[in-house]
Amino acid sequence: MKRPFNPTTVRMIQHEYAALKRRVAELEGLLHRQQQHIMRLNTMGNFLQSCQSLDDVYANVGPLLAELFSEQAGVLYVFRSDTTLEAVARWGKVLLSSSEMFLPDCYALRHQKIHLTEDPKHDLCCNHLDLLSLPSLCIPLVSRDATLGVLSFHYAPHQTDPAHGWWEQLAVMVARQIATVLTNLRLRDQLQQQAIRDALTGLYNRRYLSETMQRELRRASRYRQPIGIIMLDIDHFKRFNELYGHDGGDTLLSAVGTLLRTSIREEDIACRYGGEEFILLLPGATLEATRVRAELVRQSIKHLRIEHKGKPLGTVTASLGIAIFPDHGATSETLLKAVDEALYGAKNQGRNRVAMIE
Ligand code: GH3
Ligand code: MG
Ligand code: MG
Repeated sequence: MKRPFNPTTVRMIQHEYAALKRRVAELEGLLHRQQQHIMRLNTMGNFLQSCQSLDDVYANVGPLLAELFSEQAGVLYVFRSDTTLEAVARWGKVLLSSSEMFLPDCYALRHQKIHLTEDPKHDLCCNHLDLLSLPSLCIPLVSRDATLGVLSFHYAPHQTDPAHGWWEQLAVMVARQIATVLTNLRLRDQLQQQAIRDALTGLYNRRYLSETMQRELRRASRYRQPIGIIMLDIDHFKRFNELYGHDGGDTLLSAVGTLLRTSIREEDIACRYGGEEFILLLPGATLEATRVRAELVRQSIKHLRIEHKGKPLGTVTASLGIAIFPDHGATSETLLKAVDEALYGAKNQGRNRVAMIE
């Protein structure tokens, strides 16, 4: 004889069945959200890969992070110096008293590993985040053994949410993606810089000058503005090489390079033209302004006190020739010929002076 089902057991099974259905629906929802996240992660990856510069990344990564982490708020910091970082992107409600932060303020950077503050009352909180009452997560951006910055999140606690934990994994993936893109762009920048800069002096090289000069000449003729050109040659440089060796000569060249780099305006271009010859391009500078700048550079070089292997190198002087676009020529060739002749004149007149062709 069949025994009837116990009504309590039936209710229990129905109850469990309903709970299971809810759980399945919940998991399906979660799966769906995760699929969407993965798609957005791919979109973000593709977009970041297409960025041509770091500024491009910084300008666009905030909205992408906001889409992926709409329930969290956060900041992307990158290193500006060995110990200082700058907030280059942010999303959601994050309050920052300063866009700058110092390395020791972030535990993730201090310990070079992910730092989670689940309970802000009891756990160690990073000082750079101002909403200290909320839990936070900081993930260092590490790529090829270098730490480039940190991706920081604030989040509201969701203890019962099955998605809890998932967004953290997503955050780690995103941090890895950003770190890789930043590293690639930095390496590309470095390679570009190596191609256009002289390694000894840090100044632009001759190739860069010829490209830039063409561009500056076109711009100056369009806006009818002058360009000042200064050619500088160190006097009796050969003697320094003979007295102090090639190394001593190199130390001198490097010091002159630093002086030139630091004595020009941002829009000016300083370049090592050849062995101990340099060119300064001063867009917008009149003849008088160029003469004054050349004279200042001449005096600064005379006052340089350079040491090599603990010994002073003695007084250094330089001769300078100046020319102006368009007065002394309309093309790079004619202008460079004009400054070269002016420089030759300065040497002939006794060196350590500024000269111009008539
Ligand atoms: P002047 O006053 O007429 O310009 O005489 P100078 O001795 O400066 O000029 P000169 O052109 O006779 O000699 C330049 C020397 O610069 C010759 C070359 O060996 C040296 N030189 C060129 N490039 C470098 C470099 O990268 N490092 C060093 N140490 N010497 C270099
Ligand atoms: Mg020379
Ligand atoms: Mg010389």
